[in-house]
Amino acid sequence: MARPVDLDPGTYAGTYKLVGGSLALDFANLVSYRGDHREHDWLDPPSNVSRWCAAVGLDAAVAEPPAELKRFREVTARTFLAIAEGARPTDADLSEIGARAAGVWARRRLRFPAEASAAEWVVSAASLSDEVAAAAAALLTSADALLRVSACSGCGWLFLDTSRNRRRQWCDPADCGNRARQRRHYERHAQSAQAKSRSSPRGAAASSQRSAT
Ligand SMILES: [Zn+2]
Repeated sequence: MARPVDLDPGTYAGTYKLVGGSLALDFANLVSYRGDHREHDWLDPPSNVSRWCAAVGLDAAVAEPPAELKRFREVTARTFLAIAEGARPTDADLSEIGARAAGVWARRRLRFPAEASAAEWVVSAASLSDEVAAAAAALLTSADALLRVSACSGCGWLFLDTSRNRRRQWCDPADCGNRARQRRHYERHAQSAQAKSRSSPRGAAASSQRSAT
């Protein structure tokens, strides 16, 4: 389900994975632990952009300044994080996504390759942000898909929960899911050790001593 991508992590200890199930969500996930002290930006260094495009099968023909790419990534992230929380995206963000997506449509050309049995759309002169906007617009106009947009309880990465009961909690059960299991196990262990120490005479003596000081 979660596919690791060989992005340069710099000094960061984690791995970027494709967990979103949608180009727009995987693009928003190019920040790990957004808003947390562990936050990491996967668009640094800029060489990661072409590696990411190759991993998702995108051929972005128009280069963009890194700051612009990051700005639009946050538009995408804000939009879908709002939806994951049951809120509505802002009109300004929706309007930018819509304008970019409409631009992609306007630049589409139909071609019928010699060996093909059907014609296909070819996009010319699209930037990565435009391509992502088209995917984001497709997601935003599907009520069924929007119901499945969720954020990982551990790291905040977004994904489409395609499970039958929509109970998926983690970006990757082997990653955030595993850490949560380990944390629960540690907490249970710590609680039972505490309870044991309180019920033993030595522990009781020690704790009454502590409370006396
Ligand atoms: Zn996670």
